[in-house]
Amino acid sequence: MCAVVGVYGSENASKIAYYALFAMQHRGQESSGISASNGEEINLIKKRGLVTDIFNEESFEVLAGKCAIGHNRYSTAGKDSVLDAQPVFARYKLGEISVAHNGNLTNKLKVREELIERGAIFQTYMDTENIVHLIAKSQAGSLVDRIEDMIQKIEGAYCLIIQSRSKMFVIRDRFGIRPLSLGKLPDGGYIVASESCAFELVGAEFMRDVNPGEMITFENCNDGSVTYSSKQLFEADPRPCAFEYIYFARPDSNIDGKNVYQKRLQCGLELAKESPAEVDIVLPVPDSGVAAAMGYAKGVGAEFLMGIVRNHYVGRTFIEPTQQIRDLKVKMKLSPIKHLIEGKRVAIIDDSLVRGTTSRQIVRMLKDAGAKEVHMRIAAPEIKYPCRYGIDTPTQTELISASFTPEEIAKKIGAESLGFLSIEGLKNALGRDREYSLVSFDGNYFAGGCAESLNCSGA
Ligand code: AMP
Repeated sequence: MCAVVGVYGSENASKIAYYALFAMQHRGQESSGISASNGEEINLIKKRGLVTDIFNEESFEVLAGKCAIGHNRYSTAGKDSVLDAQPVFARYKLGEISVAHNGNLTNKLKVREELIERGAIFQTYMDTENIVHLIAKSQAGSLVDRIEDMIQKIEGAYCLIIQSRSKMFVIRDRFGIRPLSLGKLPDGGYIVASESCAFELVGAEFMRDVNPGEMITFENCNDGSVTYSSKQLFEADPRPCAFEYIYFARPDSNIDGKNVYQKRLQCGLELAKESPAEVDIVLPVPDSGVAAAMGYAKGVGAEFLMGIVRNHYVGRTFIEPTQQIRDLKVKMKLSPIKHLIEGKRVAIIDDSLVRGTTSRQIVRMLKDAGAKEVHMRIAAPEIKYPCRYGIDTPTQTELISASFTPEEIAKKIGAESLGFLSIEGLKNALGRDREYSLVSFDGNYFAGGCAESLNCSGA
């Protein structure tokens, strides 16, 4: 998960990065950071907490300069400490660099062991530190050559933004697993961000997505203007992550030319075709199931109602570590509108089912509110495998669909029935013009890594 942003050639680079990170807060709430270059040095501020809590007016005086890169962290690899916040800054032979990374490197441990063998010391458990070391240890003469050297040695999912004192480099892995878009700022500068929703807030015009396997280099021209050049480092083999569309990205973002809200609606329509339920009303699990539930309601011809209210002052339930607290948090977060539900046959739609905690609580909540029947529908296929490419999924034993059939899970969660979207249905919804990363559903670890262990070939 995580969000990255890079701004180049703008007077207000760090403020623009700040607003972009604010727009992408949903991609990570653990820590946030911005580094900015004024041409002579790179300054960095990073802390644990939310974007609005970390930065103030004074921060932007420290973060002066026309190039800024930033990061929101949601830990998937590494630990929960301020040292693990990004960007990662370093001084090395050629000067100063700062790196922000979204994704997960699957050969992280192997590379790290080799580096340690050669005398490298690490401050964190993050794969991003590998990247800094590989650049610093490369024998190539220029930074761009060192980056190309480094990129040959890493595997997995990555969107990288690398800042030197004068340039900015942006790289997306050859599968384009995580999203990354390029935009133009009103003052002539450029912005690169994980999600296009960030562009709206800063008034940037969407230009295009960064291509899988592409490196874009931003630099200053002699006349004071800025320019960028593109190089295809690897042949593109696009497989954007299906889970970005299903759950993770904001509905107003467009990823690789496809609007997230539209895709969720489509998933709901497909689900209605594959797994219709005879019901009086269709409710979403707010907010994650809203668009899919609208599609489902349309598909089965039942009334769509916002029958469950969400308390927005509670964070996402996944963030809490213990099962006991997770259970309580679902109740703190969601509350039913009884008079809409009483005596009704209800279809309740969520975007995904992971451990089954949310579904169990919600079915109970609806039954307590007087629902006659509760039919749970999930607008995604069964999650049977942990993601190794940057989505925070638990171990395989915790994934309820890895061990139980939909009928068994329906019993466990107390629903009259449970239906999932099939993998084929998901492909229909997302569009059959390309492949997708479906690893959580089909266990195809095409970019390295495997289900059993974080340590088998990386993390
Ligand atoms: P669970 O309660 O464990 O079955 O998780 C399912 C709920 O968590 C659904 O409401 C999803 O919207 C949400 N969810 C799915 N994947 C993630 C994730 N990687 N991080 C946080 N929440 C998630």
